[in-house]
Amino acid sequence: MKEMVLLGDEALAMGAIDAGISAAYGYPGTPSTEIIEFLEKFTKQEIPEGKENPADIKVAWCANEKTAYETALGTSFVGKRVLVTMKHVGLNVAADPFVNSALLKIGGGFVLAVADDPGMHSSQDEQDSRFYADFAKIICLEPRNQQETYEMTIKAFELSERFNIPVMIRLVTRLAHSRAAVIPGKRLPQNELKKAEDPRKWMLLPALARQNWDSLLGRQKDFLEFTEDWEGNSLEINYANKGVGVITTGLGRNYFEENLSEFPEKPSHLHINAYPIPEEKVRKLCGQVSKVIFLEEGAPFVEKRLRGLMPPGVYVAGKMDGQVPPTGELNPDNIRPALGLSVRETLAVEEDLPGRPPQLCQGCPHADTYAALNEAREAYDNSIVTSDIGCYALGALPPYKAIETIVCMGASVGMARGAADAGFHPVVGVLGDSTFLHSGVTGLIDAVSGNADMTLVILDNSTVAMTGCQQTVLNSAQIDGVVKGVGVDPSHIREMIPLKKHHEENVKIFREEMDYKGVSVIIARRECIVNMKKKKSSGGVA
Ligand code: SF4
Repeated sequence: MKEMVLLGDEALAMGAIDAGISAAYGYPGTPSTEIIEFLEKFTKQEIPEGKENPADIKVAWCANEKTAYETALGTSFVGKRVLVTMKHVGLNVAADPFVNSALLKIGGGFVLAVADDPGMHSSQDEQDSRFYADFAKIICLEPRNQQETYEMTIKAFELSERFNIPVMIRLVTRLAHSRAAVIPGKRLPQNELKKAEDPRKWMLLPALARQNWDSLLGRQKDFLEFTEDWEGNSLEINYANKGVGVITTGLGRNYFEENLSEFPEKPSHLHINAYPIPEEKVRKLCGQVSKVIFLEEGAPFVEKRLRGLMPPGVYVAGKMDGQVPPTGELNPDNIRPALGLSVRETLAVEEDLPGRPPQLCQGCPHADTYAALNEAREAYDNSIVTSDIGCYALGALPPYKAIETIVCMGASVGMARGAADAGFHPVVGVLGDSTFLHSGVTGLIDAVSGNADMTLVILDNSTVAMTGCQQTVLNSAQIDGVVKGVGVDPSHIREMIPLKKHHEENVKIFREEMDYKGVSVIIARRECIVNMKKKKSSGGVA
């Protein structure tokens, strides 16, 4: 097969294609977005005559990660292989169907691809999805390079069908967003359409759920047997070195290997890329060394489980005692002190460089909305503006300083209602069109039901701009219908065009609706300029 140069995300998508998926669903979120983007491009590509039609894969962005996960479950229920993708915080949104789905008898292979973001390059926290896989009691695979990502994705589908569980593949930013050569293999045919034979295995009524739960617990030994036998969980004992043993996971292995030549005697080494943790292999390693060093990208997941269980006399070093940096990404240099190697000299960084904080693009519609909002707020002694996650979060920074909270997708709406219920006035919530559809709409239903005294501003720029301009699940006209449909008084659903020439008019709209006692919604509508340019360059379709 012809070699391809792929991002980690793309290697995962290619693996899913070659595993014979029939569908893929997701919600954009850095660093996972490129998985679905690659599948979208792949399914739209020109098919040379006589070649297999790769377009026979349904690929779609969904309203949020929970709906994506549930949609994928439906595909698996009818026997087809399916991929669902999200970033780590997205898995919090999908946690309900995710945890419950471990109790189902998965039919068509079901693979959940989660991309974690150690170092928080574009995330609000650093959580490690391996804890979720452990919590749900399923198998998790963690590749360390692009070829492994491709191959492990195919393996994940096989495991899902073998053990009838969803299987998680965990990527991290550095792998998801770096390119390397991948040699793909043969493409497997898609599964036949075949409804699950025993729907009781898909019904979590308490009496049936108890049986399914017992079944899941009973199969844990099979999962462990797999990870103990799995060659990717590789153990190399150096009987000549009774000192140091190293346990790596994911990219930790790459960084360890970059330093390997500096050890006078090679340390014993266990690499773990499939969970549950292969405890027998850990025991074998620990029986041969006096010190174990844990190198894990993300949280100290393995270290936490094993610390305290080490045999007497085995010293442990890792993130939990600060010998390995407990936050951010690992790299070949910052693990050296834990390995007992000297700190490398690095090039001096020029001091006093001017700061370059991220900014809204020149001409961004949000800038004009914030200018009008800030002026409107001047009429009040005090006011609150809650907000959310998207390009518009940059409104927290100078020169706008227009928003005061950013917690999670959709929180702006609920927080505005809570502050209003407590008696604060005026309260404004600000979020984007995609965030509104993701999880803001449910908060708006609450606000309407509680007749909260608040104003919601939906920044409708016709795209999911922050993650690279993916299509929103509903268009502008449909968003109006949703707002009306949840019961907002139509006379307090206002539209504004965020342009300088409408500034005075927009300030007036803000003030009128902030003074209104009840739920009002202002839709600030102007297309993202990056999306406009993208559409122009692609002949009209973004
Ligand atoms: S990408 Fe679009 S929405 Fe985001 S800052 Fe730029 S113009 Fe504004």
